[in-house]
Amino acid sequence: MRYQFKFRPYQRRFGRSLTTNHGNWDIREGIILRLTDETLRVGWGEIAPISWFGSETLEQALDFCRQLPEEITDEIIFSIPHELPACQFGFESACEWGSGKWGIGSKGDEENNFLTPNSSLLPYSGLLPAGEAALNQWETLWQQGYRTFKWKIGVDAIAHELEIFESLIHTLPAFTKLRLDANAGLTYEEAKLWLWSCDNLKANGELPLEIEFIEQPLPVGQFQQMLELSMSYETAIALDESVATLGELATCYQQGWRGIFVVKPGIVGSPSRLRKFCHQHQIDTVFSSVFETAIARLAALQLAAELSRNNRAIGFGIDHFFEQEETWLQSLCNDL
Ligand code: MG
Repeated sequence: MRYQFKFRPYQRRFGRSLTTNHGNWDIREGIILRLTDETLRVGWGEIAPISWFGSETLEQALDFCRQLPEEITDEIIFSIPHELPACQFGFESACEWGSGKWGIGSKGDEENNFLTPNSSLLPYSGLLPAGEAALNQWETLWQQGYRTFKWKIGVDAIAHELEIFESLIHTLPAFTKLRLDANAGLTYEEAKLWLWSCDNLKANGELPLEIEFIEQPLPVGQFQQMLELSMSYETAIALDESVATLGELATCYQQGWRGIFVVKPGIVGSPSRLRKFCHQHQIDTVFSSVFETAIARLAALQLAAELSRNNRAIGFGIDHFFEQEETWLQSLCNDL
């Protein structure tokens, strides 16, 4: 298949700065792609890199787009190098979109139906703000229907965070699920303390909710320690930063990881290769956002719906971090 190719960079400001152990994030930048095939069907795609998380940089993605001709083929799209995982995702998902196999897109771009609120049947995990602010803001998310929450740890001193954690587990309604995301920010001793605290509370019957997992406690280079911790404590561990791209995910699997894998479709790489890997190995996955627009989100949710096996909530409950979504994206697409 041949496609007319157009692209346009975008910038989008977070309503409130996103704080993780990697620092503060204020502006999301990415690229919207438009592929029009020979039958004039339009497929939208999005490249939303996070270079500090292991993908290419925005500049590398832009360079790749700029050197492409105006007409591109499947051969070009399916041979994008692995060093450009966000590009692999953006282009391949634009092809899938245009093919109409998701049940959308086949009417071209006249019906901007990607701009309607998504209606995924999977439960969502809502991202709480870091620190004490979580204690006041879970309720809004609860009213919106969230029953799984994620809270960032490794942002402040551990003693202080453990105190807030104690309050949080007694503030959140019973039977909610809580994920603790360290973003690789703990030391080995701190990771043990968090895991021990969760195990201990549970063993003493003092845990009114479920700690679903601790996410990426240690830096990427400390895989063996995380593997060891995952075997020593009952509280589960999920890898995230360690498995940013499909190549890294496959390596961790081969090295024995049988815990949870966080998959960020927007930067993991080729959707077709991801499907193949997940079908082959039946891994336990949590699908998660890269703070993309509705365009990449639709493609990511499509993958989550196909590949989630365990009814784990998906990490796309992040809209409240942006000021507004739909109008700017719609006008950008109309101009493209
Ligand atoms: Mg994470």
